[in-house]
Amino acid sequence: MSIQSNTILLTQGRVYDHSDTSERPGPADILIIGDRIAAVEPGLAEKLGGEVHGAPIGSVIDARDHLVLPGLVNAHYHSHDTLLKGCFETIPRETWLLNALPPNYSRRSPAEIRARTLLGAVECLRVGITSVQDMLTMAPMDAGDIEVALQAYADAGIRCVFSLQTGDVHGAKVTPFWEEIFPETVANGMSGVVSNDAGATALADELRALHTRFAGKSDTISWGLAPSSPERCTPAFLKALAELAEQAGLRVFTHIYESRATTLIARQKFAAWNGSLVSYLAAHGMLGPQTTLAHGVWMLPAEIEQVAKAGASVVLNPVGNLKTRSGVAPMAQYLAAGVNLGLGCDNNSCSDAQNLFQAMKAFAGLAAVSDVEGDRPSARDALFAATAGGAQALGLQGVVGQIKPGFKADLTLLRLDDPSFIPFNNAARQVVFSECGRAVDTVLVNGRILVRHGRCTSVDEAALRGQVEDAMGALREEIAAVSARTESLQPQLAEAHRRTWNAPLEVNRYVGGAVPQNKIN
Ligand SMILES: [Zn+2]
Repeated sequence: MSIQSNTILLTQGRVYDHSDTSERPGPADILIIGDRIAAVEPGLAEKLGGEVHGAPIGSVIDARDHLVLPGLVNAHYHSHDTLLKGCFETIPRETWLLNALPPNYSRRSPAEIRARTLLGAVECLRVGITSVQDMLTMAPMDAGDIEVALQAYADAGIRCVFSLQTGDVHGAKVTPFWEEIFPETVANGMSGVVSNDAGATALADELRALHTRFAGKSDTISWGLAPSSPERCTPAFLKALAELAEQAGLRVFTHIYESRATTLIARQKFAAWNGSLVSYLAAHGMLGPQTTLAHGVWMLPAEIEQVAKAGASVVLNPVGNLKTRSGVAPMAQYLAAGVNLGLGCDNNSCSDAQNLFQAMKAFAGLAAVSDVEGDRPSARDALFAATAGGAQALGLQGVVGQIKPGFKADLTLLRLDDPSFIPFNNAARQVVFSECGRAVDTVLVNGRILVRHGRCTSVDEAALRGQVEDAMGALREEIAAVSARTESLQPQLAEAHRRTWNAPLEVNRYVGGAVPQNKIN
């Protein structure tokens, strides 16, 4: 009798269920056949007697004394700068862009692209993240380089909703006061996203060709579109992308209202859409259930209602928003309006860690001081956003985010003998408020065991460390040169920021007296 090698039985784990409100879920067994969860029930192991369909089960994982979570979903992430962690202090977003974004650097080698993609995947997997939405900026947008990143994802095994970040408007044109403060020659070099001078249609055609060439080659990689942010895209480009999204059934991911500057530019340059980037997106067929908006820090109450009505998702990135001095999103207002929320960790150059435990705790805590009388989000809300909410934001609702028969087998097992869970009082609260990632023991994606006893099984972590070090020689020199250039522009950057912070705006997302109160209407 041959072993059913594609079957895994997890026995006696405490299985987290979003709809079960008990403080400590009871033990149950989980049967996985192929890439999916086939059954979840107490006593299943005994019932099966070691066999599925008359053949011995492929492998059995003793999950006693473990909490089994749906795999965590990192719903906003960029793999292009995983090697820049720890390079910058808490600098304002617009200064950070100059230090961090790929167009400021020379083209990277395939070896570096592979190493950085794998490193990001390993960092995520080791803290229980099973899905990422990678909004990757490739400069230049080379098909060979893109293939290297996709292969790294397929090898690492983490689930990825892959998208190429693009825009066709120069960054300096849509950053408040930059055009008047910087000489044109300097401003021209201050690019942020991959632009295509050939025009909006050509850029959309390029994306269409890349999608046709690479999509559907891996079970764990799907594709989306990523117009960088509304202000970085012309109406023609948005329209072309909306058409492509419709034709190819692709989800659209974009940044919106991340900082005070991105909000001020909406008022300054988008008067035709009432100064609203949400209305600008809507006017070009880009606001609907297939839309996922990252950040939304400075969104107005009426815009939150508009987003809720459209059925779009918002992905909050509370840690990155703090480090880039961007502010605190109106989290409780999103929840009250019924907007689906996911959580993300954004870039390693601005949040410096891919860790949803940090994101969940920041989400719960910052929301609490944004709406002191409300009682949401609870820890359960935070855990929902980091799993099922994120799944919906990635277009994977009904696929991942819950531990139920028919769902993909994306699971994260936490050791309950870790100090974070001793004593074990409340599963959701200890995941959100106590755990930091230390208790992550085993991680499965698509029925494949990718982390066992805290180490990656799909990537040789020691060899990867060597590959990263090999890449760092040349990269460190460039980081120093790029940082020195930004430093030389500091007087002008400071002036632009000062004007941005002093300009009147009808909304405030800073804490305490960060911005003079008389400037807030
Ligand atoms: Zn981002």
